[in-house]
Amino acid sequence: MRSKSNEFQYLEVLNERTKLTVRERDALNACQKGYGGEVYLDQAVQLVAQGADSVWDDLNLNYLGQRIQIDKLLQIGSTLYLIDVKNYHGHYTYRDRTWYCNGKPTTHSIFNQIDRAHDVLARILFEQHVNLQIVKVLVFLDSTATIDVQEQTGIVTKYLWDFCDWIQKILRENRDQLQFLGNWQKVLQPYVAEPYRQPEDFTANPQRPLRQGIVCPKCFGNQWNAKRYFYACQRCGFCQTKEEAYVRTICDYGTLYFKKELCQRDLQAFLGDEYSSKYLRKILCRHFEWFHETGWNSYYLNKGVRFEDWFDEKMGYFQDVRRRIEWKSSPN
Ligand SMILES: [Zn+2]
Repeated sequence: MRSKSNEFQYLEVLNERTKLTVRERDALNACQKGYGGEVYLDQAVQLVAQGADSVWDDLNLNYLGQRIQIDKLLQIGSTLYLIDVKNYHGHYTYRDRTWYCNGKPTTHSIFNQIDRAHDVLARILFEQHVNLQIVKVLVFLDSTATIDVQEQTGIVTKYLWDFCDWIQKILRENRDQLQFLGNWQKVLQPYVAEPYRQPEDFTANPQRPLRQGIVCPKCFGNQWNAKRYFYACQRCGFCQTKEEAYVRTICDYGTLYFKKELCQRDLQAFLGDEYSSKYLRKILCRHFEWFHETGWNSYYLNKGVRFEDWFDEKMGYFQDVRRRIEWKSSPN
């Protein structure tokens, strides 16, 4: 499953704990739409491109200080499709080397990002003697947007619905050809970079009040009926194990304050006094990586992402805990 961008995760936590500004609301909507479209594209490609040699989603590369982000790379035979997903609305025309949006010239070129990504990718593959032809493909998610490219650009532009047909056709045509098994993924590995992060975390915004405590992932309420092993949301009835609720909240704190290490004192302030400091310490020791200690404070490593990403590899554990608790709390 594709990860949500760092910005998306940050805005989600912020939205659950405070009122967003208009700009943040717009940014969150754009993230939701973009991510939804990318996931849809992933699923579509997974269905139609089963004969593809290899796929790499959401790739960040750093080559000699140049950072690029690629939505999807798809290898079919000796061709590598460099796919960039766009979530544009309105009417776009490209003529005389200029983009027009609803008739007005724009300074922003829709081709910039994919051209830069192509140049870096081509350079790395060339230097490492990987002989793959790169084809640039822009996929537009919004079927009501019109994209009118009136001259040769060397970039394939497709809507999501015709992209799938197009890929399927290419796969059919390549089916009987000798498959080219390249080592392009191994060659790119040394250049893989951390995904982009905004420069400031929530520390830069100290005046804004945040809803304290464990927040319900379903209704964003923070009032719970506490049982021995789990919490039940007073507003919507959603239940989660105590252990997962604490871990999720620590991750949410880490997402908002991604520049800070995790420290028990700050986490206790984020949770509020009614939550047990003894249990918080136990959870930190059990699930988080100890970093260092100064005076009375222990510091833990902050990955700066939400529970689903942070504990991606431990989901089985949390599912087991859930199952055990359902068994314990069942009347039989
Ligand atoms: Zn709820």
